Amino acid sequence: MFIAPLAGKIIWALGVVGWFIIRYPYDRRARRAPKTRRDVDAREIFSLAISTAGLGIVPAAYALGNAFQFANYPFHLAQCVLGAVIFAAALYLFRLTHKGLGTNWSVTLEVRTEHKLVTQGVYRLVRHPMYSAFWLWAIAQALLLPNWIAGLAGLIGFGTLFFLRVGREEQLMLDTFGDEYRNYMNRTARVLPKIY
Ligand code: SAH
Repeated sequence: MFIAPLAGKIIWALGVVGWFIIRYPYDRRARRAPKTRRDVDAREIFSLAISTAGLGIVPAAYALGNAFQFANYPFHLAQCVLGAVIFAAALYLFRLTHKGLGTNWSVTLEVRTEHKLVTQGVYRLVRHPMYSAFWLWAIAQALLLPNWIAGLAGLIGFGTLFFLRVGREEQLMLDTFGDEYRNYMNRTARVLPKIY
């Protein structure tokens, strides 16, 4: 069955394309919004690079370039279907978070001149729902690509960015919004409602 792993690869690639299509208009708008603070250092650049490698470059080398064949394992249909459902959920949540954040969004750690703290909609449930969506993407990738390296690269790459960044991002929000963010932290979890 050669066609089977191909199905997972195609669904993965469609998911990534869908992600670009969702982000593109928000990216354009947000870039134009002026900034007052930008916390980009070597650690932040490393985080972005390893996340891009894990969610993009490594799985693309496998899915499009047939790399890492030695790390393949047998394809299971149920695993692929579950991966597709989770990727769809990730994209849906991803869109909600972009809509919610509007021009307050940025790819890295930045504060806009007219930054507003968003605590409504999906931001009422957790304070990092966009990162929840990326965790779902990484889980979907692990299920869709039956290859130990390409599959797990997303969890390792995004996981590194998440744990290197999330505390600093919260500090940035505390510096900017003070008690407003402290109260928000007291009533929300980070990425999984009520749990973490
Ligand atoms: N961590 C959030 C946002 C990711 S985008 C999420 O996962 O949904 C990263 C930028 O969003 C940061 O530079 C920060 O300035 C901004 N940000 C983070 N939380 C925010 C919030 N609740 N309201 C407004 N901006 C926020």
